[in-house]
Amino acid sequence: MTTEDNKLDSESLEKIKKELTEKREQILKDLEEVSTGNRVKFPDYGDKLDENAQEIDEYTTNLATDKVLEESLRDIENALDRIEKGVYGVCKYCHQPIGKKRLLARPVASACVPCKTKLQNG
Ligand SMILES: [Zn+2]
Repeated sequence: MTTEDNKLDSESLEKIKKELTEKREQILKDLEEVSTGNRVKFPDYGDKLDENAQEIDEYTTNLATDKVLEESLRDIENALDRIEKGVYGVCKYCHQPIGKKRLLARPVASACVPCKTKLQNG
């Protein structure tokens, strides 16, 4: 794969922006449901909560869900903020382009794969 193939083009950026905006709407809606005490279906993004979570009582589950939602929301807002500032898709550690493939797979990514791997191993 050449660097050019993995470069974030404006079409992909628009797609990511739309996706992030839609996810933000969904999370805000879910957060509202948590705060009003309605039963929350587990969100279909990010890491899946394991099945044990279902055994925890509803209060704890809602708190956990709340936390996951808020973290996702923060990630999404940071990503949208980077798009606005024109610095989206740049690794926050090495300042190299993160790459289109990774961004399409994980739009909230703020670090490139090599840096992320280094962090997880170190
Ligand atoms: Zn990096």
